[in-house]
Amino acid sequence: MNTAAERIGAGVGSLPRAMLATLPTPLEAGPDLPGGVGLLVKRDDLTGLGMGGNKARKLELICGAAAARGVDTVVTVGAAQSNHARMTAAACARLGWQAHLVLGCGGSPVGTEGNQLLSRLFGARLYPQPSDDWDELEGVASALADRLGADGRVVETLPVGGSTPIGALGYMLAWAEMMQQCESAGLNPCAVVVASSTAGTHAGLLAGQAVYRAAGAQTPELIAVGVAKKSRVLAADATRLARACLEAAGFAASVLDATTVEVDDAMIGAGYAVPTPEGDGAIRWAATQGGWILDRVYTGKALAGLLRMASEGRFSPGSQVLFWHTGGQPAIFASGGAPGDEAK
Ligand SMILES: *Cc1c(COP(=O)(O)O)cnc(C)c1O
Repeated sequence: MNTAAERIGAGVGSLPRAMLATLPTPLEAGPDLPGGVGLLVKRDDLTGLGMGGNKARKLELICGAAAARGVDTVVTVGAAQSNHARMTAAACARLGWQAHLVLGCGGSPVGTEGNQLLSRLFGARLYPQPSDDWDELEGVASALADRLGADGRVVETLPVGGSTPIGALGYMLAWAEMMQQCESAGLNPCAVVVASSTAGTHAGLLAGQAVYRAAGAQTPELIAVGVAKKSRVLAADATRLARACLEAAGFAASVLDATTVEVDDAMIGAGYAVPTPEGDGAIRWAATQGGWILDRVYTGKALAGLLRMASEGRFSPGSQVLFWHTGGQPAIFASGGAPGDEAK
């Protein structure tokens, strides 16, 4: 038995958890990357909850803790095509709770497409805002939470992306899940590449990796591809969250070596959710080479980062790299959500 996996299981296992995701998600082999590097894909687009994606793992721990304190209502914020808001809506439907979603729609028209269509279908109430300023959106969410609380609801307010230390625990567990899958299949990837926006996913994986390292286990390196913030800011966010996540599971924050936290921000382009030619190229590559569906906001840009690292010779020929597919498919069906459909 693997002692690091046992330690993670024991640390997180004592905390309340809502069983919302279909786990473990598949780990599958893909076509070679440039330079003769093998590709593995961790299919977290198949977590099952409300069309899947990475937020299901965070929501299991977040909703578990919320249920333990009698929550019946969740308020959260997101972008117009927020996957986090959609999966929060699905989780609330499963748990019999109300979901209230404050969405930053900026100048874009309020749609009934993609993630918004699904959120409505799950019974959530949507509050589209003309702004896309996070401070303003969080102000609206906190006023809404106060109003709901005054009406007698027991409210949980989640930050953008559900990136709390408790949410990140879902990805600490996921690191152990992935390591065990690799072990039993005799796979030994040299690196794991994942999209990072609000840092919760990256932080949980870092926390899991740190526990493995502390146990003396060999682990892949972890490379986050930023899709919104510059690497200095995102690396600091991920480090802070990973340490809080470690502490929440009963580990010392010091097991994480901050100098190993790596964020590549070369693929952001003009900004969050603004498509790039590299990201669109990666979406086409994944679709035509593997039948995988990536999105323009997160996974397309992350795979573009991986394709570039591979073609620049970052990984040795014959080695394997694991791409963590974090989901995002519903946004494909919103206008402007897929390459070749530039309508806005
Ligand atoms: C939210 C999201 C991410 C980023 O996860 P963070 O924990 O916010 O960094 C990546 N991919 C998809 C599809 C997402 O919805």
